[in-house]
Amino acid sequence: MIDENCIFCKIANGEIPSKTIYEDEDFRVILDLGPATKGHALILPKDHYNDVYELPEDLTGKAFILAKKISLLLKKKLNCDGLNLIQNNGRTAGQTVFHFHIHVIPRYHDDHQHIGWNPQEISQEELEEIQKEIFES
Ligand code: AMP
Ligand code: ZN
Repeated sequence: MIDENCIFCKIANGEIPSKTIYEDEDFRVILDLGPATKGHALILPKDHYNDVYELPEDLTGKAFILAKKISLLLKKKLNCDGLNLIQNNGRTAGQTVFHFHIHVIPRYHDDHQHIGWNPQEISQEELEEIQKEIFES
């Protein structure tokens, strides 16, 4: 299903032109218009799902297998030194376009990008509390 008001639906289905580097029945992979680095790509399903919570399992599997393929392609073609796979869900997590997508970001020694987080201190007790909250019903 396509959302008429969604720009990534239009791009994924070819209604708006993009710099496509891969396409199949389910996905289009495009170059990001505001790239973190050279070759920053976005994996877009052709159907509309807001985020990973909505994405059906079969497409989730396909999307991450495709992310691996695109990673290998970019490594081979652009000779990057590293690569980040990033997938944001929700405004709080940095999502700005609410159509599921995976960022494939090649990294270079001198790219001056900072993709990461500030590690917090945590005790064994606190870790156990969280483990219980998640793991035990
Ligand atoms: P996110 O913050 O995870 O939702 O990522 C959205 C990404 O989409 C950003 O990296 C934007 O630069 C990129 N973006 C937004 N509009 C376009 C567009 N029309 N074509 C290509 N990339 C886009
Ligand atoms: Zn969409």
